[in-house]
Amino acid sequence: MLAAKLLDGKATAAAIQKEIRQKVSEFASQTGRTPTLAAVLVGDDPASAVYVRNKERACANVGIGSRLIRLDGTTTTSQLVDVVGRLNDDKEVSGILVQLPLPRQVDEQQVLDLIDPGKDVDAFHPVNVGLLSQGRARFLPCTPHGCLQVMWRNGISVSGRRAVVIGRSDIVGKPLAMLLGAKDSHLGDGMCNATVTICHSRTPDLAEICREADILVAAIGRAEFVKAEMVKPGAVVIDVGINRKGEGITGDVDFENVKKVASAITPVPGGVGPLTVTMLLENTLSAARQRV
Ligand code: NAD
Repeated sequence: MLAAKLLDGKATAAAIQKEIRQKVSEFASQTGRTPTLAAVLVGDDPASAVYVRNKERACANVGIGSRLIRLDGTTTTSQLVDVVGRLNDDKEVSGILVQLPLPRQVDEQQVLDLIDPGKDVDAFHPVNVGLLSQGRARFLPCTPHGCLQVMWRNGISVSGRRAVVIGRSDIVGKPLAMLLGAKDSHLGDGMCNATVTICHSRTPDLAEICREADILVAAIGRAEFVKAEMVKPGAVVIDVGINRKGEGITGDVDFENVKKVASAITPVPGGVGPLTVTMLLENTLSAARQRV
């Protein structure tokens, strides 16, 4: 029986953040400017508040400035449009992040589409999605990029391998599938050139398809959905899921059983999550550089 290698997202994130801190310091001494991330938090969703706090803490850790714009849960689309417009015009702001989900009354798409693509550090803007799909990304989407980094930095190459992504969301599944299957010229060596299958809620014979994967990514939002019998022995398993479980969180993978079959696996917490925040920092630095 195999004992999977634990892909430690916290340690990998710490190593990348150390590199970012150095680059931020060089940027600041060369330009006299501090890259700055503005986060917009609407309403009082406790999970969103935690995410935003983690992002602020991570910014401080690498020397990136952060600004928090807190808005009432009754904020309207036009009020949010005004806030985003002001941040777009603010020369001190390098990157803008609107924490999702937004309250029901807000037209989320309208707001996200208004963010200046040069400050769109989440890489959600249609222009940035288009650039990514053409292999000339301005910013790599944070969670998908984090999934690649946690493999790459732990000596796992995806090149030439069969990857299966469960989930087709605009934030995780779709862009991750695009990155895994991209040409190497676009990212680092070994980080792409996989042969990719995307699965979703309407996929028949899901378990059978998953068992073909050398690299299996779960981005579903259902606790412990991926069972050991869905995993090919020796596969690499990346668990993106965050599901509330009592006081804590659990992933989309049945970790205790799948780790007996896989060759490497990310835990939840401490897997992809810390990488997502880290890649946001990298994008904020990159946004500041692109504005010089
Ligand atoms: P989403 O709800 O937008 O998408 C879920 C996807 O799963 C859909 O495409 C759907 O087709 C698929 N799906 C649902 N049920 C399925 C089933 N029975 N069989 C096969 N596919 C099924 O969610 P999302 O935004 O992509 O997020 C997915 C998970 O990842 C969530 O738990 C979310 O909290 C988590 N997440 C984590 C991070 C991180 O940093 N670790 C970042 C973003 C999202």
